[in-house]
Amino acid sequence: MRVWAHDRFAFPLPPGHRFPIAKYGLLRERVIADGLAAAEEVHEPAAVPWSRLEAVHDRGWVARARTGELTVREERGIGLPWSEALVERARRATGGTIAAAQHALRHRVGVNLGGGTHHAGRDWGRGFCLFNDVAVALARLRADGLAERALIVDCDVHQGDGTAELLGPDPDTFTLSLHGARNYPFERIPSDLDIDLPNGTDDAAYLRALDRALDVALERIAPDVAFYLAGADPWHGDRLGRLALTKAGLRARDELVLDRMFGAGASVCVVLAGGYAADVADTVDINAATVAAVSERLALHG
Ligand SMILES: [Zn+2]
Repeated sequence: MRVWAHDRFAFPLPPGHRFPIAKYGLLRERVIADGLAAAEEVHEPAAVPWSRLEAVHDRGWVARARTGELTVREERGIGLPWSEALVERARRATGGTIAAAQHALRHRVGVNLGGGTHHAGRDWGRGFCLFNDVAVALARLRADGLAERALIVDCDVHQGDGTAELLGPDPDTFTLSLHGARNYPFERIPSDLDIDLPNGTDDAAYLRALDRALDVALERIAPDVAFYLAGADPWHGDRLGRLALTKAGLRARDELVLDRMFGAGASVCVVLAGGYAADVADTVDINAATVAAVSERLALHG
């Protein structure tokens, strides 16, 4: 199976920073070791052109991000020190989601081993997110006439505020976010459907809530394409999440989303979003299981 990976584009971080930069390279190695993708099927995405970012984001925001002329407040909100390398990486991650989405339209499903930067809005970014890869990829699919109606299934433990701002008002997109009620961000922009889950929500309660939410979403839109943010951070051991899913529960979540989307006739673009386990190997396990779920379904429905 072809996948996209941008882990070679590292950027400087202070020691002990909680952004899990190590997971991306480890995940690429794991996906190859598990036989989910051959080494030559792992593609390095091109950097998204500035004009594609400006099709979705405010030109001033893109310019400030590009040159590093962010205000102190903006840089603090992103939570990552600005560098040219950081911007290059963000452009590559967005390029990976575009490539995976284009692949999905041809082959039902595409996977970016990264992306899901859902806290980036029109003229702002925060929570490790500079550009909203999903909104940029959807704009590209539409510009190319490949897809129109979209469903965003955001299962990162944090609410998808940037995506809600950019795509919520769009009548041909339905934005769904399932997240910890008590998790970041604390000032929210409403999605079309927000499911606020209490601290400690377990597998069974999560899967019931997700299934019902997908019922509601699919009554509202018949998507050409679905973007699935398969966050690893609803896991019980996550340092930034407040939910209590097991690895098996997260795998069941992945299968539920994929099966419901395929059942609805949508192509699916899978992106990783967050994951902050104390041991990065746990996050890699969860992300690799998502890729395995995709691979299994391709074998079944291929
Ligand atoms: Zn998150």
